[in-house]
Amino acid sequence: MADKPTYIPKIVEEDCEVYCKTCNKTINLTKGDPIPLCCGKPMEIID
Ligand SMILES: [Zn+2]
Repeated sequence: MADKPTYIPKIVEEDCEVYCKTCNKTINLTKGDPIPLCCGKPMEIID
């Protein structure tokens, strides 16, 4: 039996915006929020 990969969300250290390349959605996060999964992948922080 294979181990399932476990998603460990990264915690953002400051207010930021994250982006999903798959569906072009953006979400605003505040400090301490975990980066959410979207479309099965972690969203990317926009600088
Ligand atoms: Zn998405």
